[in-house]
Amino acid sequence: MEKQQTDKSETQELPPEEHLRHPLFLNALQAIEEGGKIINADPNIVARLKRPKRCLIVSVPVRMDDYNVKVFNGYRVQYNSTLGPYKGGIRYHQDVCLGEVVGLAALMMIKNSVMGLPYGGGKGGITVDPTKLSRTEKQNLTRRFTSEIGPFIGPNKDIPAPDVGTDPQTMAWMMDTYSQEQGYTQAGVVTGKPVEIGGSLGRNGATGLGVVYVTERAFEKLGKSMKGATVAVQGFGNVGSHAALYSWERGAKVVAVSDVNGGIFNGDGLPIKDVIEYVKNNKTVVGFPQSQKISNEELLYLDVDALMPCALEGVIGAHNADKIKARMIIEGANGPMTNDATKILHKKGVFIIPDVIANGGGVVVSYFEWVQDSMSFFWDEEEVNGRLKSIIVKAFDKGYTMAKEKNVDMRQAAMAVSVDRLQKAMLLRGLYPR
Ligand code: NAD
Repeated sequence: MEKQQTDKSETQELPPEEHLRHPLFLNALQAIEEGGKIINADPNIVARLKRPKRCLIVSVPVRMDDYNVKVFNGYRVQYNSTLGPYKGGIRYHQDVCLGEVVGLAALMMIKNSVMGLPYGGGKGGITVDPTKLSRTEKQNLTRRFTSEIGPFIGPNKDIPAPDVGTDPQTMAWMMDTYSQEQGYTQAGVVTGKPVEIGGSLGRNGATGLGVVYVTERAFEKLGKSMKGATVAVQGFGNVGSHAALYSWERGAKVVAVSDVNGGIFNGDGLPIKDVIEYVKNNKTVVGFPQSQKISNEELLYLDVDALMPCALEGVIGAHNADKIKARMIIEGANGPMTNDATKILHKKGVFIIPDVIANGGGVVVSYFEWVQDSMSFFWDEEEVNGRLKSIIVKAFDKGYTMAKEKNVDMRQAAMAVSVDRLQKAMLLRGLYPR
């Protein structure tokens, strides 16, 4: 392997552009630096990993229902492609800005690397409140955005997926637009598509199932069992409801779940299948018959074996870490705990499974979708879930071994595993041109 020379010049410093100062990106940089320190990484490699490779800004003119044309801002950031094509979701939200997308793209690089996938990191988005768009407007916006970023994406280049504010239908429009412009169907240009047009079985519940696979593994490592363990889940959307369901199916006692309206508690365990049915009819968990009402905050402070925050960012910080009584925290959501809170709780002996490992099930099954599309040969759900288990448990084990070897928490260990893999690949590939 070729060692790169350390460049001491000021090019190592970040330029002052605002998009490289976004808090989300600064957090990612801190994580990359910490990971690099643990494995004593080459400073040249760390400096390279701290900059996005390419940031694309596009203007997206859209014919609205009132016949006026509105111009939206769209972004696609291709952060790193050392390990393979760029991969990451497309977010539609009013707060999307280039800095946020850069930060999220860096996190995708870290996640794809730690999960052992053959992908680099990317992310995209449009600054728009999708709840204010009609279906036609959303379709027009998606198609024009796809066309604008079209020269830069493709099954071998950059593969978008759904994120906040986008869904399988959005991916179907993206796939169709790209295919129309290429002149033939290219299912593998996006993942998270409906099954009818090249999506994968098991994609919908994959993130929640991954959360449960790593939880089971952690219990095993700690000499305990998921059967009979008490679990609390914050958030009952895609990730939270599946994490609760699969925990319950494995004999765990899910004592509390919550959503934006509040939470429900039953010390003997909630019948999660019935709660899911209840939510289908009532749009909230609140009011479920065999339960007491609790607040989202009270849920976080329950004395449980496993706490799964699966809703929002930053719900556990230095301000409330001392109130946490859970013995294990599994981050189903992205960034539910701050780095400070992780350090406080790790010191208290709480076992934390960080988001880049715990919620990696979604991108792993996206990877399977891409593989199946390229073969035009589709697997049954059992095969998808079995392969998911093997990949996510392997990522957990690598993190666990690193944490033990270097005496660090699982978040730092995951970063170290991620930077280590990227470093090895970068040194093998070398710098172009020399
Ligand atoms: P979702 O929209 O399906 O569900 C979100 C849930 O959180 C809902 O039950 C909502 O009521 C609840 N919620 C919203 N505001 C809340 C509040 N203030 N207090 C308590 N609960 C609140 O979203 P999702 O797809 O389940 O994603 C949840 C998290 O997981 C996000 O951080 C997302 O980035 C992350 N994630 C999702 C996936 C995936 O495949 N869906 C993959 C990786 C990471």
